[in-house]
Amino acid sequence: MKLFVFSARSFDKPALELAAGKHELAFTERRLGIETVRMAEGSQAVTLFTSDDASAPVLDALHASGIKYILLRSVGHDHVDLEHASSLGMSVANVPQYSPNSVAEHAVALLLAMNRKLMLGQQLMDKWDFRIDSLQGFDIHGKTVGIIGTGKIGLTFARIMLGFGAKVIAFDPQLNPEAVRLEIKYESFDEVLKQSDIISLHCPLTTTTRHLISGPQLKMMKPNAILINTSRGAVVNTNDLISAIESGHLGGACLDVYEYEKGLFFDDHSGDIQHDTKFTLLRSFKNVLITGHQAFLTTDAITEIAQTTIANLDCYQNGLSCKNELTRKKQLTPF
Ligand code: NAD
Repeated sequence: MKLFVFSARSFDKPALELAAGKHELAFTERRLGIETVRMAEGSQAVTLFTSDDASAPVLDALHASGIKYILLRSVGHDHVDLEHASSLGMSVANVPQYSPNSVAEHAVALLLAMNRKLMLGQQLMDKWDFRIDSLQGFDIHGKTVGIIGTGKIGLTFARIMLGFGAKVIAFDPQLNPEAVRLEIKYESFDEVLKQSDIISLHCPLTTTTRHLISGPQLKMMKPNAILINTSRGAVVNTNDLISAIESGHLGGACLDVYEYEKGLFFDDHSGDIQHDTKFTLLRSFKNVLITGHQAFLTTDAITEIAQTTIANLDCYQNGLSCKNELTRKKQLTPF
């Protein structure tokens, strides 16, 4: 089948080519949007990344171009109007699972770098300033770590935290038996916020979880708590996060995702005038560490993403039902 790859990057192109088999692939680094949709003409399927726009008007245009199948190279599907795709008879499949270690380990990397002030330490060392007075962190051992969302990534992060000797508590509307087996204690959402020294977000972005962490929730957190978000930017209300940092209540924020990352992350803006004052402000805080949605970026994860994407395409080509199909399944209302 002819598969058009939007948002192709140097890291996923070779993995997709290797997995492609007999499928014919064409690539663009450009994002899918109303202005680029016609690039896919002549293909039957497109594959998208999280920065692509698959809203209703774009889906209409894709459908008119003859696209029947949409393959997401991601777990998250908040960038796709699934209901509209279903109404057009288009099939959408995601990669529901790929190395949860990639994201969980990155969350740990952010936490350690923030807590042990690795960035500041390097800046001082660049100046040949070897004083360590400003680099004090705390032991994770013995601290309470709260997990919001104990799915694949949340549970993997929880296991690592248990390995550090932390007490792990969690909130998820659906209990994970594996978490129960690990003696992770489920608490109410508010209790997790109140009791945790470190809170890590691992829930999807839905209408329910949009701004799940806003002013009242940030105030509920322990003074000096650290918030980690490797989930989706809009799970956290950015304005309220900025206020919580400015007030000195929050100890720090480790972010791999940002509410307004679309159009910012994944592209070179080094020559642009920087208009995003919220992002500039966040970056100016010593206790905020941001990476540009790179948590998934390990060789292992990229290989699995490419293989599952092509396996999904194989199913459609062979007229088989695709186990990763999102359309026509009951969904949490996508945001
Ligand atoms: P998953 O489906 O295995 O787990 C998600 C969990 O969140 C489920 O257990 C679900 O019940 C729970 N949940 C749903 N609503 C909730 C709520 N209101 N409060 C608490 N928990 C809730 O998904 P996963 O593979 O663990 O991925 C989690 C998220 O991580 C994805 O949805 C995606 O947004 C994000 N992600 C980010 C990156 C990255 O590179 N930063 C990469 C992959 C995934």
